Amino acid sequence: MVSSVTGNRVFIGLGSNLGEPLQQLTSATKALAELPESADLKVSSFYRSAPLGPQGQPDYINAVAQLTTRLDAEVLLTQLQTIEQLHGRKRDGVRWGARTLDLDLLLYANGVINSERLTVPHPGLAERAFVLVPLSDIAELGLTIPGLGTLRQLLANIDEKTVVRVAI
Ligand code: ATP
Ligand code: MG
Ligand code: MG
Repeated sequence: MVSSVTGNRVFIGLGSNLGEPLQQLTSATKALAELPESADLKVSSFYRSAPLGPQGQPDYINAVAQLTTRLDAEVLLTQLQTIEQLHGRKRDGVRWGARTLDLDLLLYANGVINSERLTVPHPGLAERAFVLVPLSDIAELGLTIPGLGTLRQLLANIDEKTVVRVAI
């Protein structure tokens, strides 16, 4: 990671519920710290929550990271997918199925992106306590989520008790 970068402030959601989730999330944050053209990594606390989608899978551990980057959004997504693969992510076609590591691009500056590979702000963001609660660890409550309002407004509509901070 370079020490000073002027670029776009981005937020990345991290999730894992297979293998050793705490270790994988910790390792993923180290990989984020080493991304090219990027600096100023901040990472939230880790949180545990029940799975979304297919039931009967282990609980998830989630976190949110912030970076300043000069990487273009699609290039960043490719880098995130490479980190997922290095952490044993297998895409078996089951939507929201168990995984060793999920890295989602939540926000890219004030950008709104609707391409074949990328939707930003991330579509699940507004309803997901496991995104909004860790996001509020590292972002100001007045943060604007393009098209959706402020972080403060979104937090008012979710149940924060569905996520539990993990002591590490
Ligand atoms: P969800 O996106 O609802 O959290 P998921 O993370 O399990 O589900 P994945 O299997 O990780 O979904 O990704 C499916 C596809 O989503 C990827 O191939 C990617 O191109 C696309 N995608 C669209 N927008 C984004 C985004 N903002 N961040 C990450 N992937 C995205
Ligand atoms: Mg996801
Ligand atoms: Mg994903």
